[in-house]
Amino acid sequence: MPQLPRVDLHTHSSVSDGTERPADLVRAAVAAGLAVLALTDHDTVAGWDEALAAAPAGLELLPGVEVSAVSDEPDGRRVSLHLLGYWPDPTHAALREVLAGLRLSRDTRARRMVAAMRADGIPISWEEVRTDAGEGGVVGRPHVARALVRAGLVPEVSAAFTPEWIGGPGARWWADKEEVPVLDAVRLVRAAGGVPVFAHPLASRRGPTVSDGTVAAMTAAGLAGLEVDHPDHLPAERAHLRGLAGDLGLLVTGASDHHGANKPTPLGAETTAPQVLEALREQVRR
Ligand code: AMP
Ligand code: FE
Ligand code: FE
Ligand code: ZN
Repeated sequence: MPQLPRVDLHTHSSVSDGTERPADLVRAAVAAGLAVLALTDHDTVAGWDEALAAAPAGLELLPGVEVSAVSDEPDGRRVSLHLLGYWPDPTHAALREVLAGLRLSRDTRARRMVAAMRADGIPISWEEVRTDAGEGGVVGRPHVARALVRAGLVPEVSAAFTPEWIGGPGARWWADKEEVPVLDAVRLVRAAGGVPVFAHPLASRRGPTVSDGTVAAMTAAGLAGLEVDHPDHLPAERAHLRGLAGDLGLLVTGASDHHGANKPTPLGAETTAPQVLEALREQVRR
C-alpha cells in the first residue's frame, strides 16, 4: 500500500516560541518526510514569507496562526485557549490590528513577570528575554523560562511551568496577558477568509479547559474543526473530543505542536488525515 502523505497542521518557529528559524523548520519537515507543514506561530504571521520561500516542490507550506483567546465559562471560570487559523488573509485590517495588540500585551506581561522576579532578587532581565525572543519575535513564557534555565534556577524550560514559577494563573510569578474573547476570535478568522480550528481543546494537563457548551457556541460562530490528536491529550480526552466532533459536525485534526528544543515533541508526531486537510481547504474564502 502506498504511504499516505503526512500532514502536520500545528508547529512553531523562532518567530514565536519555537527554536528553529522558519526556513530551518521547513528543512526539518522535509527531512521528517512531511508532505504538508502548517506554520502556526502564536499571534503572528511574520514567519510566513521565509517559510514559503524555503519550501521545496515536495512540501506544501500551509500558512497559519495560533490566536490567544479566552472563554468566560457559564460557571464563572475564565479559561485561556488557543485558536488555530489556517490561510487567513494576512492583510486583513482587523486581523492585523488584533494580532498586533496581542503581541504588545505579551511584551507587557513578560516585562511584568521579569520585574516582579527581579524585585525579589531573581537575576534575570527583560533585555535578555526580549533579545532571546529575537527582533520582531513574539515573546512567550518559554522565553522567560529560558532565562530561568540560563540563571540555573530551573533545569529545563518545562520545569518553569509549575505553580512555583509561571505555570498558569495563580502561579507565583504569574501575570495576565490580553486574549481575544473566543467567539470573536472564531469570527475574526472567518472574516479574514481563514478556517478556524480549536487547538488542543481538552489538554487538561496544561490547565483548565472549556465546557462542551463553549465548543458548541464556537461551532455556531463558524468553527471548522477540533485538534483531537495532540501530544497533550490523554486517550480519554481524545475519545470525548471525537464524540463531540461527531455530534457537532466538526472536522478532526492532529498535529505535533512542535516547538523545537523548547519541547520534546518531534515534527509529525501526530498528523491529520489528507481528506480532512482537503475538507479544510474547501472552506477557505477568497
Ligand atoms: P504563553 O503563550 O506566553 O502564555 O506561553 C504558553 C506557551 O508555553 C505554550 O504555547 C507552550 O509553548 C509553552 N508551554 C506550556 N506548558 C509547557 C510545558 N509544560 N513545557 C514547556 N513549554 C510549555
Ligand atoms: Fe507555544
Ligand atoms: Fe497552543
Ligand atoms: Zn501551539
